[in-house]
Amino acid sequence: MQTVGSSCKCCGKPITFSADAIGCPRCKVVFHRACLQDSVCLHCGVDMAKLAARELDAQQASQESLLKSGRRQMQLCMVLLGVLVLHHLLVPFVMGSSNAYRIMPWVQGLWIAGLCYWTYSGHTWARLILAIPVITTILSCLTLLQSEGATVNAATMGVTMVSLACATVIAWFLLGSRSVRYFLAAQRQPPRQ
Ligand SMILES: [Zn+2]
Ligand SMILES: [Zn+2]
Repeated sequence: MQTVGSSCKCCGKPITFSADAIGCPRCKVVFHRACLQDSVCLHCGVDMAKLAARELDAQQASQESLLKSGRRQMQLCMVLLGVLVLHHLLVPFVMGSSNAYRIMPWVQGLWIAGLCYWTYSGHTWARLILAIPVITTILSCLTLLQSEGATVNAATMGVTMVSLACATVIAWFLLGSRSVRYFLAAQRQPPRQ
């Protein structure tokens, strides 16, 4: 709460140092500490020091839970990405396609693993670059389903649906989730104890 520049609700004189002042979080008025016997607001009767401490506690608790859910979502996101990448790498093997022996998908897999690491350590650029192949996957799955949905065999359909589901959830975690953003920002600047 901004105290300097306001005037004391008790004596009417301006506040010049924030250390000399105490503000009421409820009615947004400020007092000189010297003008009060204790920390009770003359306006509404609330104990301003206790109220401020409670508000701080509540704020810390909500940041803590945001951090926790962000971490859980990010871990789930990494697991799904792993599933998606393995899926891309192994499905051609299982289905006996010649794509299995191409080196590029494996290089891409490594590159994505690196991006995951940088994303997890809080680099925004890595998160945004990571989102590109994920969104491309969503688009190519949707295109396939739309253009050849009626003619593809069950195996291809299954593979496509798994990719689509994983990629959609990952995209939401990477781009949509507020708690993931909060968690990653905290990774970059560890909160001071
Ligand atoms: Zn005063
Ligand atoms: Zn008050």
